Amino acid sequence: MTTPRLEIDLSKIHHNASLLVNLLGRRGISVSAVTKATMGQPEIAGQLLAAGVSGLADSRIENIQTILSAAIKAPMMLIRSPMIGQAALVVRSADISLNTELDVISELSKAALKMGRTHGVLLMIELGDLREGIMPSDLNKVVRRTLGFPNIVLKGIGTNLACRCGVAPDAANMRELSNLADEIDVVSGLVLPIVSGGNSSNLQWVLGSADTGRINHLRLGDSILLGRDPLNLKPIEGLHTDAFTLVAEVIESKIKGSQPWGKIARTAFGPAIAPTDRGDILQAVLALGRMDTDPDGLTPPSGIEILGSSSDHLIVDSGTKRMSVGTEVAFQLNYSALIQAMASPFVTKKCAHSTGERYQTLEPAGCVA
Ligand SMILES: *Cc1c(COP(=O)(O)O)cnc(C)c1O
Repeated sequence: MTTPRLEIDLSKIHHNASLLVNLLGRRGISVSAVTKATMGQPEIAGQLLAAGVSGLADSRIENIQTILSAAIKAPMMLIRSPMIGQAALVVRSADISLNTELDVISELSKAALKMGRTHGVLLMIELGDLREGIMPSDLNKVVRRTLGFPNIVLKGIGTNLACRCGVAPDAANMRELSNLADEIDVVSGLVLPIVSGGNSSNLQWVLGSADTGRINHLRLGDSILLGRDPLNLKPIEGLHTDAFTLVAEVIESKIKGSQPWGKIARTAFGPAIAPTDRGDILQAVLALGRMDTDPDGLTPPSGIEILGSSSDHLIVDSGTKRMSVGTEVAFQLNYSALIQAMASPFVTKKCAHSTGERYQTLEPAGCVA
């Protein structure tokens, strides 16, 4: 079979999504499944919807278009602030977008007016992680202006934490979000339908809190796909952590010393790091590199250790077992390795259900003309 290939177990993704939807549903929290790491692959999107998520969310309008062009019908949320130049595309393809700039909302309004549609806006609030967000002190003003734009419907507020600076969701910042929702209700005279507490890093707080206030929505990608809590990388109880496997092939296998020789300068990717001396080793080179994935985010099978990588090569110590040329090696991936493997045109994507069906090759997606 072709390598490198990403094997995707649809049953495990379905199981993970369904378990989280049920756990959160009992707390009055709905889930938009975030498809950005999957490039909007329609097969995966279909599983997420079958598992009961309330809608799909993506940071790229191109991925949303991929899903729509597969005739999948679901509420679509664009979770990165739209680029001005894409306003019309966003209104056409997404029901709701996350916004922080009045200039953008103004363009969305003009596009919606022209198309005779309405577009939902969810205002993102800065609560300390210093990525996107309106400063809380400016929120009232932005709400009033947003309510004034024709064909724009204020759907709610939200926040995003633990992405840039690692600020964890906690009682204080989540209470602030709830309080802001209460204030907006007073300003607008309506009850904000959506208060979106955040991403997968919110699970710990939401599932561990007796009172989640106004929070009634989460946007979950990582936790559904990889089954881990991104705050500490621990597996989430009951979830599969191996829905994705990256398979690569050995292209060289030799006994080599572990110490380089010659004058050492920089490598193509930065300062050279001297390998530890472990004498002669069974070194194998795999046809997998930074053009395919993030090698630092791979977990090899036991007995195999990753020693280094370059654009196209992964160098491993195969321990006590010699791996002949052509041997396939299966790696587990972290989020960084997953998004890069999904986005790489060199990695074939294969989907199957763990009931034993053979892996089916997916058409390349995410590259709509
Ligand atoms: C990526 C992203 C998410 C999903 O984050 P996960 O950690 O994958 O759950 C949610 N919201 C926004 C704004 C995002 O950019």
